[in-house]
Amino acid sequence: MLETLISETELEAKVSEMARLIKDRYRDEPILLVCVLKGSLYFFSDLSRKLGLNVQIDFIQASSYGSGKSSSGVVQIRKDLDVNIEGLNVIIVEDIVDTGITLNHLRELLSTRRPKTLAVAALLSKTESRKIASPVEFIGFEIPNEFVVGYGLDYAESYRNLPYIAILREG
Ligand code: 5GP
Repeated sequence: MLETLISETELEAKVSEMARLIKDRYRDEPILLVCVLKGSLYFFSDLSRKLGLNVQIDFIQASSYGSGKSSSGVVQIRKDLDVNIEGLNVIIVEDIVDTGITLNHLRELLSTRRPKTLAVAALLSKTESRKIASPVEFIGFEIPNEFVVGYGLDYAESYRNLPYIAILREG
């Protein structure tokens, strides 16, 4: 059963607001936006198109979930970046920060590559379930500790193309 948590209109407004904050912070400096596949697909696509032309994009894929609803706690890099990020302003674009384990791993990995700056933009944050306090510079929505799908987020690879965010309940 799906219960709407964040509507399409609310998503649109929030992504615009986040883009404004990012533009204010970086002014005319070039940015490399890193899409964390697959969940941040739509957030990344909408955000990047609101940021103007001084933006390059690249993709990374990490995995800490199997096909179910809970994290395995072991982060694997399934696809690495193509670009050398040394000296660049890098923003990691995440769908959701839950325990913080994935983000912490990505931050540590990318910071060893000596970017000029490294920040994170996450659409959703479940602060209640955080196990590792990893900084998130730009947060869209704080949400309760529920399993959500849509706008890129899946359950066993389904529901990603739902245009809004919903809580997935049993039964
Ligand atoms: P963390 O390492 O912070 O526990 O988990 C991060 C990853 O777990 C996210 O990028 C996302 O892929 C997945 N995840 C965490 N919570 C949810 C959720 O409520 N729904 C879905 N679909 N994925 C989630």
